[in-house]
Parts: sequence; structure tokens; C-alpha cells
Amino acid sequence: MNTRCALRSVIALFLVFGFASVACREDDTPHDRVTVAVSIPPLADLVKKVGGDHVQVITMVPSGASPHTYEPTPAQMALLSEADLYIKVGTPIEFELVWLDKMLAINHTMHVCDASDGIFLISTRESARDHADDDAIDPHIWVSVRNAQTMIGNISRALASIDPQHATLYHGNMVEVSIRLDSLDRAIVDMLAQKKQKIFIVYHSAWNYFARDYGLEQKTIEAGGKEPSARTIEHIIETARQFDIHVLFASPQFDRKYAESIARDIDGQVVLVDPLAENYIDTIRTFAAMLARYLE
Ligand SMILES: [Zn+2]
Repeated sequence: MNTRCALRSVIALFLVFGFASVACREDDTPHDRVTVAVSIPPLADLVKKVGGDHVQVITMVPSGASPHTYEPTPAQMALLSEADLYIKVGTPIEFELVWLDKMLAINHTMHVCDASDGIFLISTRESARDHADDDAIDPHIWVSVRNAQTMIGNISRALASIDPQHATLYHGNMVEVSIRLDSLDRAIVDMLAQKKQKIFIVYHSAWNYFARDYGLEQKTIEAGGKEPSARTIEHIIETARQFDIHVLFASPQFDRKYAESIARDIDGQVVLVDPLAENYIDTIRTFAAMLARYLE
């Protein structure tokens, strides 16, 4: 190749990549963003962090509502008909069990990704732990930082398959989030490692996966998603007295009357923590810090 020819190739390359980058910038207008629907706020947060400016997220179960009972509004269903992708939690959580088919019926071109792909699911029932059937699977996978690591990998791959042009960017964002999750995980290990007390009491059984990660045990007031019986309440009071527990964790989605009445009996207090809050990293860090403060 002579010099002139080489120069022409360089100019040609410049033109190709120059135009390519202009085209890329035009693609980044909000109109061309990937629209992703999810059920719950913490999953929305992870999708926003991985997707950055290239995705807009529709959260179907709003903050403060329960994914075990929530029904979407007609306005939400209309919005959903524009979604390119649905990233489901993927566990037997009622909102998805009841609504996902209905959502696909109004938007058949919407792709579906399972955020729980590759996550080891655990049972809510002690007795069913070795042979978990579907209705005994604990759906609250997201409260485990280690599960969230798997979830962001699934999110990044799903976004890349819908929008391959930005695959590198999604992967880069995912690596950044992964580093933050890893340091959160190590911080929690440090916060809780020296605790002799391993049991904590919650109203709704949302923190099982978190408990497993750090060698703790969650005791729940609510039984099988239903209001507690007198016997369960009595058992919780006995457990609290036996282990000298004076704090009960409750979430804003559920009635606090049982937790408050038990708290009075054990001379304790009810502390609110929302496993469905949108700011994922802050929520998990705050819960770990509370445990560190209240566990002996
Ligand atoms: Zn729940």
C-alpha cells in the first residue's frame, strides 16, 4: 500500500466512524430509549443503575404497595403496552403470577427476562426446606446482596439482547454496580460477624435470603402470609424473652397492630424497615446497621 492509498484509508475510516458516532448520539434521544417494566421498586433501581440513560423504567407496584396483593391501574396497563422488555423478579410473587400473562396479552411484542435465573431459591417453611415445592418458595430474593449480583448480570444481558448497540455500556455499568454490591456485602459481614445473637424478629417474612447470607435466623410474626394466631404470638413472645430481644421489625406495607402489641408485652419497640424501598443499596445497608445496633 502506498502513502496516498494509506491516507485515503485513514480518511475513509474517519468518515465511517465519524458518522457512526453522530448516528449513535441521535439514537440516544429519550424517544429511542429502551422501555423496561418491572414489578417492584428495588428491581427498578437495579435496572436504572445498569441501564443508565439508555433505559426508562416503569414500576408496576408503586412504593408503599405490596406485590402480594397489588392490582395495576388502567393507566399503568396503558403505559405497559409501550414496554420493550419486562424484567420479572421470577419467583412465585403474586403480582407476577396473576398479572404477567395479562400484561403479555396487551403487549405481545414485549420480551420477558427472569431476574432470578441462576439464583438458588429457598423455602419459607422449615419443614419444606429440602423438598421445596412452588408455594413454599420464598419470593423475596432481592434482599440478598449476593442474589442481587446475579440479578444485575441477568439485567445486563437482557438489556444487551434488546439493545446490542449499548451492550458494552450496560456491561460497564453492571461491573460498577457489582463492585458497590461487593463492598456492601463485605461491610455487612464486618458489621454482623461479632454478634452472638443470631435471631431477629420481623412481621412479614421478607428477610430470609439476607439472614441466610450472614448466618442469621429470621422469626416471623405473620404466618404463611396470614395474620398470626394467638399461638404464634405466644411463641414469638417466648422467643423474644428467651433471647432477650426488644426490637421487632415491621414494613410499611403491613398492619403494625400485632407487632405493636407484642412489643408492649416484651417491653420492646417496633422499628420500620421497607424491603421494597427503591434505593436498594441504602435500604440494605440501613437494615444491616439496625441489626448491628440491636443484636447483642
Ligand atoms: Zn413480601
